Amino acid sequence: MSIVTGASQGIGEVIAKKLAQEGATVILVDIQEEKLKAVKSSIQEIGGQAVSFVADVSQLGEAQKVCEAVVDQFGRLDHLVNNAGITRDALLIRLKEEDWDAVMAVNLKGVFNFSKAAIRTMINQRYGRIVNISSVVGLMGNAGQTNYAASKAGVIGFTKALAREVANRGITVNCVAPGYIITAMTERLPEEVKKAFLEIIPMKRFGTPDEVAATVTFLLSDEASYITGQVINVNGGMYM
Ligand code: NAP
Repeated sequence: MSIVTGASQGIGEVIAKKLAQEGATVILVDIQEEKLKAVKSSIQEIGGQAVSFVADVSQLGEAQKVCEAVVDQFGRLDHLVNNAGITRDALLIRLKEEDWDAVMAVNLKGVFNFSKAAIRTMINQRYGRIVNISSVVGLMGNAGQTNYAASKAGVIGFTKALAREVANRGITVNCVAPGYIITAMTERLPEEVKKAFLEIIPMKRFGTPDEVAATVTFLLSDEASYITGQVINVNGGMYM
């Protein structure tokens, strides 16, 4: 049983599809109802198992409802991928308080909410894998993204603390920190910003959601059983 948040598009959609192809039952979570249905159908069309929940990760009660429903229906919860995230970019001088709060609520509190809702089941079953999607920006900063950088750096601290709490219960907690990945989130950036990113990426190309999904599914696999509290960069060398 694998929960993926923000699964209706972008990196989350690709992670969900890859997990389904590998035989997992995937629990798709997002606020975009129609897109979520489409992802669920496309997984089912290729013989995969998927269920979907429209839920806002920033609401603890909604996270609890999803996790309770999963345990009621399937009896376990093996994987949690905290992927849902948003940007509300502006230089600090112009950044609105509501945009600070929105980014923290989804990107950081969302990780708390779903981890909190899932962890008791994982402890009881003495098994669990949590992968949180951070960002290169949480490690190196980026002008115009104080809110996003703070939320993604917070995710790294959260990951390391939780990894220490549950390591002796058979649960691993890791981060994947993508660099610039081609999705709707990055497509809306101005051309000059895209160009500036390309200049600082040693591989001289942007990454793909598949390249992030491959790292996430590795961390969820048995091959990664002795890896916990780590931040794995998938960034073409942009930050080392
Ligand atoms: P994306 O295409 O915008 O997909 C994110 C999905 O999460 C969207 O469907 C979004 O819905 C959903 N979502 C937003 N708020 C939510 C909420 N409160 N509850 C549930 N779902 C919610 O983004 P992406 O590029 O795939 O990014 C996925 C993750 O990777 C994010 O955490 C992002 O910060 C991280 N990341 C991305 C990049 C990159 O270059 N793309 C780099 C580093 C890290 P809406 O469309 O309605 O917002």
